[in-house]
Amino acid sequence: MNTARSAEFDDRASRIQTQLFIGGRFVPAQSGETLAVLNPHDNSKLADIALAGKADIDRAVSAAKAAFPAWSRMAAADRGRLLLKLADAIEANAERLARLESLDTGHPIRDTRFLDVPRTAATFRYFGGMADKFEGSVIPVEQGFLNYLLREPVGVVGQVVPWNFPLMFTSWKMAPALAAGNCVVMKPAELTPLSSLAIAELMAEVGFPDGVVNIVPGLGGVAGQYLAEHPDVSKITFTGSTKIGREIVRASAGNLKKVQLELGGKGANIVFEDANLDAVLQGSAFAIFHNQGQACIAGSRLIVHRSLVDAFTERFVRLASSIRVGDPLDPNTEMGPLTSPQHRDRVLAYIDIAREEGGEILLGGKPPAHASLANGCYVEPTIVRAKPTDRVCQEEVFGPFVTINTFDTEAEALAIANGTEYGLGAGFWTRDLQRAHRLARDIRSGMVWINTYKRVNPGSPFGGVGASGYGREMGFDVMREYTQAKSVWVNVDAQTPPWYPR
Ligand code: NAP
Ligand code: MG
Repeated sequence: MNTARSAEFDDRASRIQTQLFIGGRFVPAQSGETLAVLNPHDNSKLADIALAGKADIDRAVSAAKAAFPAWSRMAAADRGRLLLKLADAIEANAERLARLESLDTGHPIRDTRFLDVPRTAATFRYFGGMADKFEGSVIPVEQGFLNYLLREPVGVVGQVVPWNFPLMFTSWKMAPALAAGNCVVMKPAELTPLSSLAIAELMAEVGFPDGVVNIVPGLGGVAGQYLAEHPDVSKITFTGSTKIGREIVRASAGNLKKVQLELGGKGANIVFEDANLDAVLQGSAFAIFHNQGQACIAGSRLIVHRSLVDAFTERFVRLASSIRVGDPLDPNTEMGPLTSPQHRDRVLAYIDIAREEGGEILLGGKPPAHASLANGCYVEPTIVRAKPTDRVCQEEVFGPFVTINTFDTEAEALAIANGTEYGLGAGFWTRDLQRAHRLARDIRSGMVWINTYKRVNPGSPFGGVGASGYGREMGFDVMREYTQAKSVWVNVDAQTPPWYPR
C-alpha cells in the first residue's frame, strides 16, 4: 500500500459517525445536546455524539411514516436485494466495523472479527433471502368461499437495543423488520451507539430509500420512553432488562402497539455424571466468559452432579484462570473489559452479595492486578460456589461470574434449572438419549442446548418465557412478529346464499 492510499485507508478506518440518522441524512440533535462515548479499556473519550430528544424522535417517526407506503409496496425481492447488498457492504468493511465495535464495547477483536461482524452480515443476508419467501396462505373453508391470509407489515417499528451486542442486535432487529416491509426508528444504547450509526452510513451508500431506517441515540428514560409511547409507532421491540421491559409494556398502552420483549436470563448449565468432561469444560467456559458474560443467554449457573463436582471444579478453575484478560484490540486477548464503569461496579457488588450469603469465591472476584488495565472496566473471571436460592443464583449478574451448584438426582437438577423467574436459554451435557429428550421437554425455557451451549442462527427462533419476555427473533417466527394477518373472504360461487337459506 503506498502512503497516499494508506492515509486514505486510515482516515476511513478511524472515521466515527456522530450525528443522528434521520430521513436518510446525518443531522445534529435539535437541542444541540451531545453525549460523550467512552472506550471501556481505559475510559478515554471516543467521540461526542448527538443526543436525541423528543423533537428528534418526532422527526424520525415522521420520516419513517412518510417512507412506509412506498417501502411496503416495493417488490419484496427488491427489498431483499438491498438487504443482500448491505450484507456485502458489511463484509467489505469488516475490519473497520470490528475495530469500532471493540473500541466502543470492549469486546475482544478476535470475537468482533469472527463472531459479531460475520453474524451481522449473515443475519442481513438471511433476511435478504427471506423477503420474497415469506408467504400468506389459503385456508380450506366451506364450499363456495375463498379465504386467504395476507401478511402485512405493521408500519413504523420502534426498536430499543442494549449495549451488550450493539452491532449484532442492529441486524437482529432491523433485518426482519425491513424484509417484512416495515420502516424503523432505532434507539441504540447510550453507551454504545457507534456501530449502528456505521451501519446507517452503509445503508445510505447501498441505496436504502430515505426514511426507511432512522437511528437516534438518546437517553433511555427520554428518547426510549417517548418512542415506546409514540402514537405513530405501531410496534415496539425491546432487548434489555426485565425492569425496563415492564416500563415498555406500560408505555405501549396508549395506542396498544404490538410489543416484543427479549429480556434477561439466568442460563442453567447442567453437567450429568455421564458427560464428556473435556467438552463440558470448553463449552462451559465459552457459555459464561465469552463477551465477559454480558449475554442474556450466558450459561451463568453450573449445576454439577455430585460424583464429579470436585474434579470438574478443579479443572474449570484452572481453565478460567488461564483466560487472557486484556486490551480488546490485542488479537491474543480472550476477555476484555465490561462495557461501562457503572456495570463493572454492579458486577463487583455481586461478589460482596455472594459472600454475605455464605458463597465461596473459588476464583476472581476483583479487577485484574495488571497496571495497564487499571483505568479500564475489567473484572477477572469469577467462579462462586453458592446455594441455588442465593441472590447470585437468582439474579442476572451479566458479567464473567458463574455459580456452581451440586445435585444428586435428575429431578433435583431439573428443579434447580427451573427455579428462577427467567426462562431464556438452558443447556445440559449427557450421553443418555432418553434423558436428553426428556429434559429438553421439561426445561422451562425458549432455547435448549444439548452437549453444546449458546448456539444461535438466523433461522432458529430466539426468545424466552416468564421474566425473559415474549415473542421470538429469527426465522419465520420473527416474520410473524413483524407482520399482522389479514383474513380475506371472497364469495366465489353465485349459488352460495349470502344470507340464511330460505
Ligand atoms: P436497560 O436499562 O434495560 O437498557 C436497554 C435499553 O433500553 C437501552 O437502550 C436503554 O437506554 C433503554 N431504556 C432505558 N430506560 C428506558 C425506558 N424507560 N424506556 C425505554 N427505553 C429505555 O439495560 P441496561 O441498563 O443496559 O442493563 C441492565 C441489565 O439489563 C443488565 O445488567 C442485564 O441484566 C440486562 N440486560 C439484558 C440484555 C439482554 O440481552 N437480554 C442486554 C442488556 C442488558 P440507555 O442506554 O440510555 O439506558
Ligand atoms: Mg462505549
